[in-house]
Amino acid sequence: MPPINETRTGTTGHPPIIEIDGISKSFGAFKVLDQLSFNVAPGEKLALIGPSGSGKTTILRILMTLEGIDSGDIRVAGENLYQMQKNGGLQPADENHLHKMRAQIGMVFQLFNLFPHKCVLDNVTLAPMLTKNTPRKQAEEQAMQLLEMVGLANKAKSMPSQLSGGQKQRVAIARALALQPKIMLFDEVTSALDPELVEEVLNVLWRLSEETDMTMLLVTHEMGFAHEFADRVLFFDRGKIVEDGKPDEIFRNPKQERTQAFLKKII
Ligand code: ADP
Repeated sequence: MPPINETRTGTTGHPPIIEIDGISKSFGAFKVLDQLSFNVAPGEKLALIGPSGSGKTTILRILMTLEGIDSGDIRVAGENLYQMQKNGGLQPADENHLHKMRAQIGMVFQLFNLFPHKCVLDNVTLAPMLTKNTPRKQAEEQAMQLLEMVGLANKAKSMPSQLSGGQKQRVAIARALALQPKIMLFDEVTSALDPELVEEVLNVLWRLSEETDMTMLLVTHEMGFAHEFADRVLFFDRGKIVEDGKPDEIFRNPKQERTQAFLKKII
């Protein structure tokens, strides 16, 4: 068996689009991520599972440069996401570079964070108009296609307060897609939803995986969905990868005791 934190090429055999190389991150005295390494191949669908507090969300936030790191390297499409500052900390690279890197990655959060005073269409057009100077007409055409894809074209003029939780989350997905990222990060996107609304959001993720070749990282407690959806599953515990394998290996035949104990509790 390979060493647990060994860097892998992933399941598609192409050079990695994300390379995480020995990153550590502490909040005060608490080490959230401990010398973490893994690669993600382009187009790979990766599920990150594990107990609460094991560092899964922190990894996504670091990839989005919403958090810095203490040590290690992260490369996206071959370019460093963080650079050493004069004060010795690793911070996101300079503004221009950051802007370029950020455009490659979209994130959808547990709570949808839509702009409450803007209609659905404006929620989706705002970022391309502001950050890419996309003309309104073009941004709106593209937004309508995305709203079609998430099944909400008929809600384009609705306000977020008029939507169900599942609909809001589907708008949030369309909004993240509007910047045409190569990589999408989904952080427990169904865990704030009533059970009957979960499926409509998971269906959108299915569609995305079937109709695009986007790389997708999904933090989830929906084990059935992770099993079906992912090409590869990483099981985290206490800031480390305990097990890394194909969904069948992890869910049907987990090798590590900690994975077995976690799955026994949750499934
Ligand atoms: P997971 O997604 O696996 O539940 P997280 O990455 O959200 O885990 O959090 C890992 C740990 O780091 C948790 O104990 C959490 O309380 C802590 N943590 C996360 N963000 C911060 C922060 N900004 N400041 C202090 N502690 C944090």
